[in-house]
Amino acid sequence: MDNLTKEQRSAQMRLVRSANTKPEIAVRKLVYNLGYRYRLHPADVPGRPDIALKSRKKAIFVNGCFWHRHACTAGQRVPKSKAEFWLLKFEKNIARDAAVRTDLRKQGWRYCVIWECGIKDETKVLARIRKFLHARD
Ligand SMILES: [Zn+2]
Repeated sequence: MDNLTKEQRSAQMRLVRSANTKPEIAVRKLVYNLGYRYRLHPADVPGRPDIALKSRKKAIFVNGCFWHRHACTAGQRVPKSKAEFWLLKFEKNIARDAAVRTDLRKQGWRYCVIWECGIKDETKVLARIRKFLHARD
């Protein structure tokens, strides 16, 4: 038995489902190869970013297009069955992402979102991550 509340448990389940996806692992590798060391999903950083560089206060999110409603085709797809359920769910996801961004900014974090659909262009992703992590502001 553990002592998680129902809410904490479902947050944890969400995390387990979304953690360690293929795109996420690919991005981790790029960051690692650039020489940076990082924490994964730290509980004390808003939104538990996929990659967090605590001393630099920089967070990288590797977002699935469907769940996080990217502007691309995959991100705009709505399953035909139970459409209303999905739309409500997406609305909540969007609101949660916005709240996370606000909290990060308030706490002095910089963040960068890498979308699942853009991951195939490794050169581009690498350039973006390098620029983001090198920036000193
Ligand atoms: Zn996308």
